Amino acid sequence: MKRVFCPKCDEMILLSDEKIREAILNADGRLDVICDACGHQLRMRLNARRRNANGEDAAGEPVAQLKVVENAFGFVQEFTLYEGTVGIGRRNRDSGVDLAIITSDPSMDRHHCLIKAERKKNGEVALWLADDKSRVGTFLSGRLLTEGEWVLLQEGDVITLGATSLIIAPAHKS
Ligand SMILES: [Zn+2]
Repeated sequence: MKRVFCPKCDEMILLSDEKIREAILNADGRLDVICDACGHQLRMRLNARRRNANGEDAAGEPVAQLKVVENAFGFVQEFTLYEGTVGIGRRNRDSGVDLAIITSDPSMDRHHCLIKAERKKNGEVALWLADDKSRVGTFLSGRLLTEGEWVLLQEGDVITLGATSLIIAPAHKS
């Protein structure tokens, strides 16, 4: 399942995996979608290539998954992390954050924290977390990060942004 947003009315549109597969296989990655809310027709391009925050092809394999725990403000979400640094925060149509969490959590900032994934010389990937000057701060396993501090993340770590928890999980093997 993939979630996209209507460029005209900003309503969420759900695309089934089946529909995405069909578009990639049969229609050269082109998919016409009609927004149920406003009737706007979007022509989407879907392909297997991943892109990083700058719109360039992402290099390398997924390094970890970031799971957003369901709460009163939002549903379960999962994001794939690649090498490089991503900004994380609450989705808003104007915020332009790399990794946008769909939530109504008022204590999560639009730019709340940063995760940096660096490949070490031995080939392993190290994940680092820092606060991004958020109002309520970023917590790792219940500890508030200090300003400018980067902490090393481990699998299973719980990051707290406002009232929302994120879990670091192993990358899906391709
Ligand atoms: Zn619409």
